[in-house]
Amino acid sequence: MRPLTASELIRCWEIGKSQHPLDRALTLLSYACPTYQMASLASLSIGQRDAYLLTLREITFGEKMDCWADCPACRERLEFSTKTSQMRIVELQEPAVAEYQVQVGEWELRYRLPNSWDLATIVGMKDYERAARRLRQRCLLRAKRQGSEVGYEDLPSEAIGAMVESIAAGDPQAEILLDLNCPACGHNWQVMLDIVWFIWKEVSAKAQRILQEVHVLARYYGWREADILSMSTVRRQYYLSLVG
Ligand SMILES: [Zn+2]
Repeated sequence: MRPLTASELIRCWEIGKSQHPLDRALTLLSYACPTYQMASLASLSIGQRDAYLLTLREITFGEKMDCWADCPACRERLEFSTKTSQMRIVELQEPAVAEYQVQVGEWELRYRLPNSWDLATIVGMKDYERAARRLRQRCLLRAKRQGSEVGYEDLPSEAIGAMVESIAAGDPQAEILLDLNCPACGHNWQVMLDIVWFIWKEVSAKAQRILQEVHVLARYYGWREADILSMSTVRRQYYLSLVG
């Protein structure tokens, strides 16, 4: 994985502007990990994908993450900082579809972790129960009762529940909860870090800022966009300071 260059940031922003967040995440990773096929990036479990995104965020924008959240009790805005290293709780792994197993009494279930392909099949589904069921069905690879193959429909709720719990435990990076405490009213609550949302906001702001810089330098010096974008940030900033 490598950091995104100025022109790659702009390219990702351009492509991702009209994309669903699921695809935006893959667009960013495809530029940061050019040796991986898009299909294998889409097969990363959601937790692994997010671990990659956090690393991409770190090597492109730095480690410190400035966040905010509104207190659900008193509406006060809480601003706080965290670090990518504190948010990343798993090691990066080569994209590979791993198979897991859970045993509940006489039931034996083999499953895999949900990935971007799976989430793409439930985009736009309004019925949460149906969407969750589709995900569980897709992730279940095989089920057996006392050695004989059975279908999803035959499984008791405790067997499905055990698989859901194992999935959550097997992919802890997929749900990063932050503990927050409101200094105004003392309320404690948890928020989920949406890394795709977070990194996309930054990519989009940064891309537009660079384009404004290109605009200023191109107008002043008459340089081509490609030449300005290929400059280091230090050099671009220096010319901007001369332009004033
Ligand atoms: Zn509060």
